[in-house]
Amino acid sequence: MRFLIVSGPTREPLDPVRYLSNYSTGVMGRCLAEAAKKRRHKVDWVSCPEDAETALDLLKELERRLPKNDVLIMSAAVCDARPVSVAAGKIKKEKLSSIHLVKNPDILATLAKRKKKGQIFIGFALESQNVVRNGLEKLQRKGLELIVVQEVKKNKTPFGDKKIDAWLVDACCATPLKKISKPRLAEILVRTAEAFFQG
Ligand code: C5P
Repeated sequence: MRFLIVSGPTREPLDPVRYLSNYSTGVMGRCLAEAAKKRRHKVDWVSCPEDAETALDLLKELERRLPKNDVLIMSAAVCDARPVSVAAGKIKKEKLSSIHLVKNPDILATLAKRKKKGQIFIGFALESQNVVRNGLEKLQRKGLELIVVQEVKKNKTPFGDKKIDAWLVDACCATPLKKISKPRLAEILVRTAEAFFQG
């Protein structure tokens, strides 16, 4: 099978020296790429921000790559919004009291509209409340077969190498995974994608 694995944070530039981004490290994507290769699948890995800097760059890149792949695993942390415009020169600090933002497109929901029969989409979500209910809503809205939902609180973030608590949510059930390592979670996701693919 051919896996398109997307990881890391997008960056939304404000001027030539500043950007908006998030704390994503890309570790989950690296584990997914390794797990898929171990199962002898072909891996097409898009690592943000190196391979696609902004959400708009990423959408374009994935539109190009998606038709050649069977599975899309979207572990990238896409910035929800971007500055309305990118200044050509460095903005003086006196003018930095507020930044006007515009919403980025939802990449998964956009790609879902051109999903081919048999393609499998897996997404991730971070939620601070109603973890399973919000995960299920995103599963449906973004056209996914499976979503990994993690609970986020002030002192409980899922970034980096640590073990995480997560729920695997699909159209029929929600399965809790307690204190799971990212390599183990990656292996489960690759095997689940295989099972979806075989029908
Ligand atoms: O809506 P939310 O950001 O919680 O959804 C998370 C999932 O959607 C992740 O798989 C993420 O990569 C993807 N996403 C996207 N386009 C966005 C924001 C998130 O595809 N603009």
